[in-house]
Amino acid sequence: MLNPQVMVVGAGPAGMSAALAAAEWGARVLLVDLFSEPGGQLVKQTHKFFGSRGQYAGTRGIEIARLLGEKVRSHPGIDLLLDTQVLGYYPDGVLTMERSFNGESEYLKARPRRLVVCTGAQERPLAFPGNDLPGVYGAGAVQTLMNVHGVKPGRRAVMVGAGNIGLIISYQLRQAGVEVAAVVEAAPTIGGYAVHASKIRRLGIPILTSHSVKEARGERELEGVTVWRLDERWQGIPGTECDFEADVLCLAVGLSPLTELLWQAGCRMVYVPELGGHVPWRDEHQQTSVPGIFVAGDASGVEEASSAMVSGRIAGLAAAASLGLCPCYRELAREAHAQLEVLRAGPPGEKIRRGLARLGEVARAC
Ligand SMILES: Cc1cc2nc3c(=O)[nH]c(=O)nc-3n(C[C@H](O)[C@H](O)[C@H](O)COP(=O)(O)OP(=O)(O)OC[C@H]3O[C@@H](n4cnc5c(N)ncnc54)[C@H](O)[C@@H]3O)c2cc1C
Repeated sequence: MLNPQVMVVGAGPAGMSAALAAAEWGARVLLVDLFSEPGGQLVKQTHKFFGSRGQYAGTRGIEIARLLGEKVRSHPGIDLLLDTQVLGYYPDGVLTMERSFNGESEYLKARPRRLVVCTGAQERPLAFPGNDLPGVYGAGAVQTLMNVHGVKPGRRAVMVGAGNIGLIISYQLRQAGVEVAAVVEAAPTIGGYAVHASKIRRLGIPILTSHSVKEARGERELEGVTVWRLDERWQGIPGTECDFEADVLCLAVGLSPLTELLWQAGCRMVYVPELGGHVPWRDEHQQTSVPGIFVAGDASGVEEASSAMVSGRIAGLAAAASLGLCPCYRELAREAHAQLEVLRAGPPGEKIRRGLARLGEVARAC
């Protein structure tokens, strides 16, 4: 049985920041991730980040993963356990894990004094005839093929979703030499930043708003995609169909927080669509309704890597403070909250501000 003072599940930007913050104040930290390298979503991101300099703006995601990974690996207070999936949380506060190595696996257990859940988010699927044909991918899979493994996913793609992820990956597909026939978006407006949409339009790629996929076509694999216009109730309008030849259909239709461990631990969950679905209630210290269990990053509400790093830092500092290890917690947390406010300011942060307000309202109402 492992007995760390602080256990962090997930070594993405939130988890690495949480581990570093807690270890900075002397906590003995166990940081666990199911992948072979730390970094989470960052390892796929070849584009430069926005945000502020404190959160590596201007640096490529993959480089941020490397920088944070080096800090984590060289910190004497952090034990990094990779290729290890946390399977479950039990009522006695024990977590079970499966660690894979050389084709074998072993089971491990840990009973941490404090737990920080930074498991990120998962992609949402979309229902339409033919959505199980080879060639229909989630956006994360396309990004992993291209940017992690150097594999071109196909010749001609249709992208579904004009949020930042859909727009960025459309651009990356073109950089990889894949033609992009169209970007299809069900909403009447483009959800991603204007700067990303302009880049796509400059490449001559049409962005079809109020459109969705009617069906994916093909015998044994994807050969084409039929899209159609949607009415104001988001129903397809017969007679507006348009066919695209394509061997890649990429779905970038949103993410949902990965919260299984928090459900298992009995944390109070609240449905907030603006934050991606069911999210744990938490206080300003990122502590959930179960004392000693903290949450940060996309697991607490789908946002961005920059805010994931800051919420991770708050959770790590708060976990250390709750063990009596971080005497200047209040001052450090105040600084971090001020950074979060800046990151969530302006029109891009409107949705997340609405979601957080709703989370607060629901909590007050109960
Ligand atoms: C295409 C794309 C472009 C983006 N561009 C930007 C951008 O420009 N700027 C920006 O700020 N953000 C951007 N983001 C968003 C950003 O990547 C995420 O918000 C951020 O990675 C969330 O960090 P996280 O640590 O919460 O989760 P993740 O990065 O998802 O990390 C979660 C980690 O938890 C691990 N994990 C999950 N479950 C378990 C388990 N049971 N056991 C063990 N390990 C587990 C996973 O393996 C993963 O490593 C982009 C995202 C995408 C997909």
